[in-house]
Order: sequence, then C-alpha cells, then structure tokens
Amino acid sequence: MNRNRSAALYEASREVLPGGVNSPVRAFGSVGMPPIFAARAKGSRIVDADGNEYLDYISSWGPMILGHASSIVHQGVEEVFDAGISYGLPTGKELDLARLIRELYPAAEMIRMVNSGTEATMSAIRLARGFTGRDKILKFEGCYHGHYDGLLVKSGSGTLTFNTPTSKGLPKAMIQDTLVAQYNGVHELKDVFANMGDQIAAVILEPVAGNMGVVAPTKEFLQELERLTKENGALLIFDEVITGFRLGLEGAAGLFGMKPDLVCFGKIIGGGLPVGAYGGRREIMEHVSPLGGVYQAGTLSGNPLAMHLGWNLLNHLKADPGIYDRMEDMAKLLEAGLIDAATKAGVEITVNRIGGMLSPFMTVGPVTTFSQVMTSDTQQYEVFFKAMLEEGILLPPSQYEGWFLSASHSREDVQRTIQAAQIAFQQVKEMAK
Ligand SMILES: *Cc1c(COP(=O)(O)O)cnc(C)c1O
Repeated sequence: MNRNRSAALYEASREVLPGGVNSPVRAFGSVGMPPIFAARAKGSRIVDADGNEYLDYISSWGPMILGHASSIVHQGVEEVFDAGISYGLPTGKELDLARLIRELYPAAEMIRMVNSGTEATMSAIRLARGFTGRDKILKFEGCYHGHYDGLLVKSGSGTLTFNTPTSKGLPKAMIQDTLVAQYNGVHELKDVFANMGDQIAAVILEPVAGNMGVVAPTKEFLQELERLTKENGALLIFDEVITGFRLGLEGAAGLFGMKPDLVCFGKIIGGGLPVGAYGGRREIMEHVSPLGGVYQAGTLSGNPLAMHLGWNLLNHLKADPGIYDRMEDMAKLLEAGLIDAATKAGVEITVNRIGGMLSPFMTVGPVTTFSQVMTSDTQQYEVFFKAMLEEGILLPPSQYEGWFLSASHSREDVQRTIQAAQIAFQQVKEMAK
C-alpha cells in the first residue's frame, strides 16, 4: 500500500504540531510506523489521504457507534447552522439532550454539559471535593480519565501514599492528594479505606476499563467499591466516557445494576463533536455554580451543534436498542474468529470482550489487572497491527486500546477481519521464530 501523501502530511505537520498530531496516540508511536492521515469515512470504512480504504475498528475511539458520516446523526444539521451555532445564551437543545440522558441514565438526575471528557472528570472531582469537604481522591492503575493534573498519576514504590506522575509539569501539590490502587485489587481497596477512608472525597474509575485495553471489573470489586464508599461517605464516580451508551442505554451502571453518585460522559454523547458532561445525584449537583459554590463554566459548553448530534444519536439508540445485541453478536463472532486464528497459528492470545468492545492481548492470560495487561507482547501486537493494515483493516495503533465496533460493522466485515487475522497471526508466529 502506498502511503506517500500521509507521509508528506506527517512531515509537514511535525513542523507546526508537536509530534505532528493533536493527541499522542495518533502518532502511531506504539506500532513503530508513521501515522495514517484520514481523508474521509463512511459507515465502517475509512479512506486515507492516499485513497487506501480500511475497515475501521478505532471508530474515533468510540463516538462513531452508528458508523461514520451517519445520516441519522447528521440529520437536520443544516438548520442548526442556519440558526447560528453559538450565542452565549442557553438553548432548548441543551435541555433536550440533558432530559434524554437523564431518562436513559437515571443516576444522572442533574447534568452539566462541558466540552470534553477531561473537563467532565476534572469538574466531577472538584465537585466531589466541594461537596464532601475532603481532598483525597482514589483512582486505579490503568484507568485513564483525561489529562487533568490530579489524575495523571500511577502508583509508586508500592506504598499507597506515594505516587508517581505520568507527565512532567505536575507540581507535587497537584497530585499529593491522589491515591492509586490496582484495578480489581479488592485487598488494596480495603487497605486504602481502612487507612484513610474518612479523608477520601471520591473514588473514580472506568466501570469497564477501556484505556489499558478492555478489562472488566470483578463482581467483588464493584461490591466493595459500593460498600466502602457508602460506609465512608466518599462519592463513587463512574467515568463512563467510553462505556456510556456503548454498553447499553444505561452504560456500565445499567449492566451491573449500580447507581454511582456522579457520572462522567463524553465521546458518544456528542455524536463525534467535542463534548463532555457530568451529572449525578441532585443533592450533589446542586453544589455546582451558579446554584452552589463549586465554580465551573464554559464559553462553548452545550453548543447547539454538539447537542443536536448527540440528541440525534441517543434518540436513535433509544428507538432501536436492538443495536446493542447486534453489535455484541458481531463482536462475539470476531472474538471467536481471533482466538481460532491465533490458535491455528500457534500464537498465545487472550481476548477480553464486553458488548461491542474488545481487546486481544498478546499474552497467555487471564487479563484482569494492570500487571497482567503489562505482560502482553507489544512487539507481537506491532507485527499484527501492520499485517492487518496491509490487509485493509485499521486497528487501534496500540496494544493498550480497545477495539470499537459500530452498528455498521456487518457480518461480512467481521468475516473479512477474521480472514485477515489468519494471515496476520501467521506473520506474528514467523517473527517469533
Ligand atoms: C477519552 C476518555 C477521557 C477523556 O476524554 P477527552 O474528550 O479525550 O478529554 C476520559 N475518560 C475516559 C474513560 C476516556 O476514555
């Protein structure tokens, strides 16, 4: 495949954009090749700057749940443009989307719209601190919540009180109140609460992790989270930026029958436009300004275009919830095909799948913790990724990201992917020799 135009765009971009991109994963650093520049997309297909077509499993990291350039999502967008796209005044469209979200996700009794997932988690943390009057927050290794300072930490030298920043530029003061524990680490969770339960404002987690590859929570982990936060007066924050409206109309909360105190959304709820939202119990949300003393604002928050696309998308999912079962069927088919292809080639993989999102880890498994995720052979993933790309299949350019199906991924698409995987796993095997 010829990718000269992508290569040229990348060279030119590196001159004006750090690393040539506006978000690091797009640089393809983890798969050791220059990035592909997108030109257009439709349904499950994406076409690059050189005119090569790929079957897409990135799906813009989740929002494209009805496929690219969906006429359902885009419906009526011209009227929105014609009416003007930002006023600095409230609009009925914000009310419409907020009501629809609340109807589908009842834990979000009140909602504040923002412009990104990062903004949602950052604001939810501030609100939790303002509401509880406590400073400490607990997060889990391998969960990503955007690039807010206080959440860019990983666990340090094994002690709970010392953590390590995952970025430069974070003053100690910004992260000293962030505690980090292992995802699915029930004992550690109990320890943290035993030691400082009365200082913890909130526990934030991805209720199904999607940013270390897909890792589901254990039942016990969720039960302990619910119990310990309640008993200690800490808030439970579900970061459903990926899982919201992907794992079902009520996201992970619905799947697990839980009711978080606060929830963060992003990605899907904007239908592909920049958006985020946080919401939760009325009594907590009433602390957000101008009603309460926790300040948070946004010039373009609730902008009519994002609200319109988000409403179109959620309203369609509500009208046709069978989409989730169909997507899951396709994902199951893909899961089975990947395992079969790997087994035939003699490559060890573990596929984690939940609903229409999955991750094949290049390791023996099981994969339920961050440490187990880290046993994956990233070299093998790189070979696999490149081989799939040559077969016209675009996967996430990192072992540690989820694959996202959309409603437009057909049985034929999945079968083609499995055929490609049979070739790709052979190449992985040959490399390993
Ligand atoms: C993508 C993501 C975020 C950050 O959202 P942005 O819109 O990129 O700021 C936060 N939490 C989770 C779980 C995410 O996957």
